[in-house]
Amino acid sequence: MDLGLSNNIAVVTGGSSGIGLATARTLLADGARVAICGRDAARLAAAVEQLGTPNTELLLAECCDVLDRAQVDAFARKVAQWGGEKVDLLVNNAGQGRVSTFGNTTDAQWRDELELKFFSQILPIRAFLPLLEKSEWPAIVAVNSLLSIQPEPHMVCTSAARAGVQNLLKSLAAEFAPRIRVNSVLLGLIDSGQWQRRYEARTDKSQSRAQWMSELAADKKIPLGRLGDPDEPARAIVFLGSRAASYITGASLEVSGGVSRSI
Ligand code: NDP
Repeated sequence: MDLGLSNNIAVVTGGSSGIGLATARTLLADGARVAICGRDAARLAAAVEQLGTPNTELLLAECCDVLDRAQVDAFARKVAQWGGEKVDLLVNNAGQGRVSTFGNTTDAQWRDELELKFFSQILPIRAFLPLLEKSEWPAIVAVNSLLSIQPEPHMVCTSAARAGVQNLLKSLAAEFAPRIRVNSVLLGLIDSGQWQRRYEARTDKSQSRAQWMSELAADKKIPLGRLGDPDEPARAIVFLGSRAASYITGASLEVSGGVSRSI
């Protein structure tokens, strides 16, 4: 299937690690030119190294906090200069989850989480909208979580915020139609940065990574029996962002190894 991504300009927020990095790699392999951002310069430089594409024509890597409007606007200006004043695909991926219950989440933590989940969508979409409008086949793909439809009490504010983001995306899909398609992926457990950090913080240090991950998959009752690899959501993101998905907007695609219980 021809995804029609050759010479497309794609932006991946949080492209320096995990799912964002795998998405950038997949897009480059499919012929797109890719701009990635993250906050940490060293992590960004390591990602450029891993992508093995030092050619700055093909890959632009910029430090940018997606919650800082001035930084996001500056990133969009850089991308505009680099990419020829248009963007074909915006992947809003930057972020992380928060593990906390209602009982132990402070007001400040609620505000932080709501800000992260909403403004990591709002600020990049605002900044890149004029560039997306100049594309022939523009698309936005948001990386969201199954928690949006299947909330977990131990991730109460992440679940609630993620549900709100799904609602926002539905409105945007209608508002931006017929020009710009807006879709999302709903992830289950993907073996990337946040699970690596939780593995490193495990209480039983004698457990190997493979043991820890397989117990996690069993504990979460994942029908496919394992966590996802970042390349797996990356392929779904790239499909939704490509011309191959030309009649899909306002949709969400579950990438969860079957853990979703909704019909
Ligand atoms: P990683 O921690 O591996 O990667 C997160 C990326 O986002 C990094 O590049 C990080 O770089 C960047 N980032 C985080 N905050 C910001 C910010 N404010 N501004 C710019 N960049 C930022 O995580 P994953 O790949 O696992 O997660 C990717 C997305 O998928 C996240 O939104 C996450 O919540 C979501 N998700 C992941 C699941 C999973 O199981 N892995 C499940 C459900 C959803 P830096 O820190 O340098 O800024």
